Amino acid sequence: MSYVTPKKSLGQHFLKDQNIARKIVASLQAHGIEHVLEVGPGMGVLTKILIEQTSYVTYAIEIDKESITYLESNLPTMAGRIIYGDFLKMPFTGVFETPFAVIGNFPYNISSQIFFRVLENRNLILEVVGMIQKQVAERIAAPPGSKTYGILSVLLQAFYKIEYLFTVHEHVFAPPPKVKSAVIRFTRNQTLALDCDERLFVNVVKNGFNQRRKTLHNSLKGLTNGTITDPLFQKRPEQLSVAEFVRLTNLISENRVQEG
Ligand code: SAH
Repeated sequence: MSYVTPKKSLGQHFLKDQNIARKIVASLQAHGIEHVLEVGPGMGVLTKILIEQTSYVTYAIEIDKESITYLESNLPTMAGRIIYGDFLKMPFTGVFETPFAVIGNFPYNISSQIFFRVLENRNLILEVVGMIQKQVAERIAAPPGSKTYGILSVLLQAFYKIEYLFTVHEHVFAPPPKVKSAVIRFTRNQTLALDCDERLFVNVVKNGFNQRRKTLHNSLKGLTNGTITDPLFQKRPEQLSVAEFVRLTNLISENRVQEG
């Protein structure tokens, strides 16, 4: 088999440009980790460069059987380190029980789900370098106050430093995607736990942004008894930093305790 037939349903757009592939791999700092997990190697354009690196050992998870067959015959040195499966469901056992990094030209249709999986495993996944849709990259890297700042920006920025690294044009892929792409990097920050009830924090962020044009006083009515007067409640969700969302969550918790 000389190449893998691109399947739209799996988000397969194969990168053709070796220089960009090198730039992506070079963006991985891999401080303090021994293992890197590549999500969706496809025909191995990144994998080939990853296996040349000496400071870590690369594994890859791929959901497409045809790509697996291709990789097994073209990258024999990866034998035993190519996993056939779904990144969203794979168990983090064996080498993935100790901190690792994630890299990939991600399937764009599931990039948000990939990020939620990363968040759930934030104490294992210390770094992520990924190519995603440019608009999504801008959104998650957006600072408070910007129009594109949203749920994923707050949740990810609570635990990771997010950097928008560079933009990638559609013509470097086969077949070209309909959207522009960008490479981003997440680096785990020092926050072990938020200084508030984390489940309530997620609810506050989600409810707040569900009606992003309303003040938090209005959009969070379901979570409060409406008697909190703190000025934070007069703001709109995109105006709040992570620290302010933490404070907001604590105000709601205290209000609930008083109620009970
Ligand atoms: N890294 C390659 C391919 C990128 S396309 C390149 O740069 O050329 C995205 C890849 O992710 C495809 O190979 C696709 O089969 C794979 N993929 C899609 N969904 C996946 C999932 N849930 N788990 C693992 N791999 C997945």
